[in-house]
Amino acid sequence: MSAEDQAAAPAATRPGYMRAVVFDGQKAVWQPQRPLPEPQPGESLLKILLAGVCNTDKEILRGYRPDFQGVMGHEFVARVVRSDQPELTGRRVCGEINLVCHHCLYCRSGRPHHCSNRRVPGISGKDGCFAEYMTLPTELLHVVPDSLADEQAVYCEPLAAALEIPEQHHIRPSQELAVLGDGRLAFMVAQVLALSGAPVTVIGRHQDKLERFAPFARTLLQAEGTYEVVVDATGQPAGLTTAIALTRSGGRLIVKSTYADLSQIDMSEIVVREIQIDGSRCGPFEPALRLLEKGWVSLPEVERYQPEAFAAAFSSRAFKAVLDFRGSDQRD
Ligand SMILES: [Zn+2]
Ligand SMILES: [Zn+2]
Repeated sequence: MSAEDQAAAPAATRPGYMRAVVFDGQKAVWQPQRPLPEPQPGESLLKILLAGVCNTDKEILRGYRPDFQGVMGHEFVARVVRSDQPELTGRRVCGEINLVCHHCLYCRSGRPHHCSNRRVPGISGKDGCFAEYMTLPTELLHVVPDSLADEQAVYCEPLAAALEIPEQHHIRPSQELAVLGDGRLAFMVAQVLALSGAPVTVIGRHQDKLERFAPFARTLLQAEGTYEVVVDATGQPAGLTTAIALTRSGGRLIVKSTYADLSQIDMSEIVVREIQIDGSRCGPFEPALRLLEKGWVSLPEVERYQPEAFAAAFSSRAFKAVLDFRGSDQRD
């Protein structure tokens, strides 16, 4: 690493090292002196500004990806320190999270997000963003418009995931839609669906969280009614059973949650009622940045944590916790 890069590191960390939150296979561990990552060909070195805590990170702590060890986290806004595309140096970016091989069956047939050799920062085979620095293929980076604050840009990945729904399916504005869950992903999904003009009902368990949905959706504390399209964003297996009950016969159930536990559902009901079940994962970043820039999606205020206080962030019911790696040193 260059002397310039080292100058950007906070004084508390020795040159060539960084602060990081690492999953050791069992639990999250704070590492104040982890060696800096070295970018591979085609990769950029990023200085993390803010890193978002996602339900998937919590599920990793519960054994969702037993094969993963390394720096956690996959949602971030960062500044490019060094890149094979020099014009990106110094730019603020967010990054897609599917590292793909470009030559397997899926990559060659237009489905790179399902690459057989896929790696995902903080989830599978690649160090993530709960650290001062990370590396990522330059092709996955998206420049963040100057008008967006770090606190807005850090939502790009979850908003893109919400946009995967209209990317996959035609949402009819006259159809009644329901979103199950009142967390951050549900907040993004409900708004994206409401932008279509469709009536959206959000069903959650926390009155305080549900109040944030009121400007764009009807909110319910109890599951009731039936809907043409239901999105499960509860982050728990039990959500699926409720979601099936809410889905009309011949309707569509979109599943956004990933979790460590297995879910038990009555498959006969799916068959008899001819419900279509669709998985839905990562989505397009550029549309997400456009929505953020236009201010058409409201964002919950982030609850900021110093990375050392990571455990507190994880146990918190925070609507949106982010780890702040900017520190007191803002020179870069
Ligand atoms: Zn996530
Ligand atoms: Zn591939």
